[in-house]
Amino acid sequence: METSSSATSLSQLTSGEVHVIVGPMFAGKTTALLRRIQCETDKGRSVAVIKSNKDTRYGLDSIVTHDGAKLPCWALPDLLSFSEKLGTEAYEKLDVIGIDEAQFFGDLYDFCCKAADHDGKTVIVAGLDGDYLRKRFGSVLDIIPLADTVTKLTARCELCGKRAFFTLRKTDDTQTELIGGADVYMPVCRRHYVSGQVVIEATRSVLEKQKVLCDSYVEATSC
Ligand SMILES: [Zn+2]
Repeated sequence: METSSSATSLSQLTSGEVHVIVGPMFAGKTTALLRRIQCETDKGRSVAVIKSNKDTRYGLDSIVTHDGAKLPCWALPDLLSFSEKLGTEAYEKLDVIGIDEAQFFGDLYDFCCKAADHDGKTVIVAGLDGDYLRKRFGSVLDIIPLADTVTKLTARCELCGKRAFFTLRKTDDTQTELIGGADVYMPVCRRHYVSGQVVIEATRSVLEKQKVLCDSYVEATSC
């Protein structure tokens, strides 16, 4: 009896999975996530999708891809409170948890460990691997060692149509988390990332010089 119960708990313990989908903006990460979630639903598995409540571009109760596909979801500030919010019983029945915009969750690593290692869930994570400076974004890279599979998607370079690996910010804002769409960001290839950064840096320094001139002019005239 005890053998069979420990065998059951062992099978629950080892049945979890972590799949990671990364890439620049406009690479179809959310679409790929929704496709995998749909696939799991078709297999009869119980699914839930979580996204960050920081991204309010499309409303909070649904997840929408750039091409308009829609799925109901939970918009939360963190992941570890999810089971409590959903209710323990409902959480236990869940087979698959999708996480979109994963770069915004500080507790991503701990959540994936708990959900996959201990709770036997299949966790499918989509997020940006790098920010507009091509530096790590949030904890997405930290969960690569936990993953069964890692998929890096690419977009199309907005300037030449070649494969795009990076996200270029078109404005001179410098905070890491600046939420926006095609008005603020564009996908670019390596060559256009490098030349684009040069143009943006040059623009920023010209604007800063003008601001200094302007400020000193205001000061001079107000004296
Ligand atoms: Zn290009």
